[in-house]
Amino acid sequence: MTEQLKSQFTERIIELQQRISSIHKDFAGGRHADWSEQAGERENDEVLNALESEAKVEIQHLANAITRMGNGSYGICQTCGEEISQQRLQVQPAAEKCIQCAD
Ligand SMILES: [Zn+2]
Repeated sequence: MTEQLKSQFTERIIELQQRISSIHKDFAGGRHADWSEQAGERENDEVLNALESEAKVEIQHLANAITRMGNGSYGICQTCGEEISQQRLQVQPAAEKCIQCAD
């Protein structure tokens, strides 16, 4: 069960890393000389930046979850030390806190 989750998380991390590198490719892509088009591209850059930080946060969560699987603290609330419910873990497998502490 844990092994299966671990490989799921690892696959997801790889997926997210691929997303980040394709975002970087977009950034590196040619810039238009036209000023009016550059304004639109800057907006687009902001969206890409947001997507990238989102992906990085998720990678961090997943990596933490894998570490916790290794040291046996996976599924235990980091705040109160209670077990995180199975339902919650199903929805949010990388959850670090129980529903009471997560708020
Ligand atoms: Zn808790």
